[in-house]
Amino acid sequence: MPRQATPAPALAGGEAPVTVLPGVGPAVAEKLAARGLSTLQDLWFLLPLRYEDRTRLTPIRELRPGAALQAEGRVRHVERTFRGRPVLKVVLDDGHGDLLQLRFFHFRAQQAQAFQPGRRVRVFGEVRPGPQGWEMVHPGYRLLGEQEAPALDDRLTPVYPAVEGLGPGTLARLVRLALERLPASAALELLPAGAGPGGLPGLREALLTVHRPPADADTAALLSGTHPAQQRLAFEELLAHALSLRRQRLALREQGATPLPPAPAALAALRATLPFALTGAQERVLAEVAADLARPQPMLRLVQGDVGSGKTVVAALAAMQAVAAGRQVALMAPTELLAEQHLQNFRRWLEPHGIAVRWLAGKVTGKARRETLAELALGHAQVVVGTHALMQEGVAFARLGLVIVDEQHRFGVHQRLALRDKGLEGERVPHQLVMTATPIPRTLAMTAYADLDLSVIDELPPGRSPVTTVAMAADRRPALVARVRAACAEGRQAYWVCPLIEESEEVEAQAAQTTFEQLSEALPELRVGLLHGRMKPAEKQAVMRRFKEGGLQLLVATTVIEVGVDVPNASLMVIENAERLGLAQLHQLRGRVGRGSTASSCVLLYQPPLGAIARERLEVMRRSSDGFVIAEKDLELRGPGELLGTRQTGLAAFRIADLVRDAHLLPAVHGVAERLLAETPALAEALIARWVGSAARYAAA
Ligand code: ADP
Ligand code: MG
Repeated sequence: MPRQATPAPALAGGEAPVTVLPGVGPAVAEKLAARGLSTLQDLWFLLPLRYEDRTRLTPIRELRPGAALQAEGRVRHVERTFRGRPVLKVVLDDGHGDLLQLRFFHFRAQQAQAFQPGRRVRVFGEVRPGPQGWEMVHPGYRLLGEQEAPALDDRLTPVYPAVEGLGPGTLARLVRLALERLPASAALELLPAGAGPGGLPGLREALLTVHRPPADADTAALLSGTHPAQQRLAFEELLAHALSLRRQRLALREQGATPLPPAPAALAALRATLPFALTGAQERVLAEVAADLARPQPMLRLVQGDVGSGKTVVAALAAMQAVAAGRQVALMAPTELLAEQHLQNFRRWLEPHGIAVRWLAGKVTGKARRETLAELALGHAQVVVGTHALMQEGVAFARLGLVIVDEQHRFGVHQRLALRDKGLEGERVPHQLVMTATPIPRTLAMTAYADLDLSVIDELPPGRSPVTTVAMAADRRPALVARVRAACAEGRQAYWVCPLIEESEEVEAQAAQTTFEQLSEALPELRVGLLHGRMKPAEKQAVMRRFKEGGLQLLVATTVIEVGVDVPNASLMVIENAERLGLAQLHQLRGRVGRGSTASSCVLLYQPPLGAIARERLEVMRRSSDGFVIAEKDLELRGPGELLGTRQTGLAAFRIADLVRDAHLLPAVHGVAERLLAETPALAEALIARWVGSAARYAAA
């Protein structure tokens, strides 16, 4: 383990188990351990995900979506409804004629009764546009007495990642206790003097600032992640990841793989049954993949290609080469919907050639699962398509030769490696092909995918009609509804996407539900469907299938449709709250239309007023359809202070770093990484152990 290689001074008591803290017995320690938190150092580096700002009250009139805010008002009106399940609505009035609606889906009767008309309430939560002005769904709240004027906080409140079984208060207390044992500065530092960008605080000061922001700290900087203390930690985290990926790449290169020789006859047979010829870009990438597969070292290749560029067929041809060499292939996708689509394609393309394609997802249980597992373990099935379920224990292969992972950014590196490890044969590992539609500027790709070779499918299949994109203020919805009606009347289909950012899947589902009801009412002649993440996989697939087969004309959905869904007849897409989505995500969503030969359009609905940057971002979407251009532009436009979600790139789950926001740190990160690996490998190990922790264990695999 890396820890043994750690130089003694760097440990500085950080290696002490969490049980040295008062109140941490075996039960609590176990819960912490389940989250990878076993030492004091682990707690020091359990960084706040974000902050809550309870230092001020925002007048209702000035509430804006985008961040959680605190407001106050009196209960004007309470309503309990029951639409499938109980809903509590409380309308607050701030005395200036501005109203704020609160909505609760889970509440006790007693709670509902406490909202007496006239009662003062202080709420904290994120607002969004509701049917009657601003609303907050499940805000935190506090009922106030008539004379009571509780003081506002004088500093930001850190919000830590959840640890199952421990309340947030308990966790915050444990972090505080651990911080009391933070050693003197020199003992904590792992970075050699002079490494990294200048002007940033030392590690000790950075940790203390981030965990307990002083009252006079720059609040805006902290909220946007640009505070020097956060930058100091982000630098170290990016460095640790860069080191870990480099080390991993070196280790993997030393391993062997079973060569899968070119199989021209088998590939020609498959090509002959395809309804199209490959594009030049597909041919080029396929040649790169085929050459990798034939080598006795494992392939580690990332295929990037814009939505609709045709990555799947390249994967199928690679699978054919592996099967022709007598090996098995596993294809893993992040959602059931996407995995099922791959299954259909692979069955359609491969089964006519006598290849058995199997399905493994969470819902495959009992006899079906046992049979599939047996076929894989015995080598009777050559190809399996599935979700995370493929990585579970009990899934074993006879001769796994190729692992294909789609939409890699949804999986952590170690998940990908967990699947690869199922193909370990002595010293040999399977080849890996990773596909992503997320266009990542090259600088970022170096960090996110430093362990992979890169191929780019930079050409779309012929015959696609470009998508016309327009931005529209949300109050022009009625006109849009008419447009949906017209498109469907012409026999086409439409998507209506209701994304909500930084909220729970449940709340998002509710928003989609509401829109679904409104649109069903406004468009009674249309067959409208609803798709969201809270539905059972079988329900989701049934809806998706109906939409695909044309049974549904309008599909109201959350962002679950983002990835990979292919319905060529859909030619209109409406995206609500578009100003709040990252450009990359908008681009992904938009890629769902324009897949057929009819002219398609995408309408970006936004809540006015738009800031200058938001306006320019929508303008970029309007002008460009090139994923790489959009990604570069996004990076350029996202200056510090732009409060956007970190789902932007959907890349590795960092504790504090954000590849887009912190891109300016990357050149220094790479420089220092190279130096450390060459000159002080022990420090490199200690950094990896500190930040990457158990995920680094695969480096030795
Ligand atoms: P993505 O790269 O987004 O995963 P897909 O692999 O789903 O794209 O391909 C999108 C659509 O284009 C599919 O319907 C696929 O069958 C089709 N397709 C792929 N390659 C070609 C090609 N060379 N010519 C025409 N259609 C193609
Ligand atoms: Mg795809």
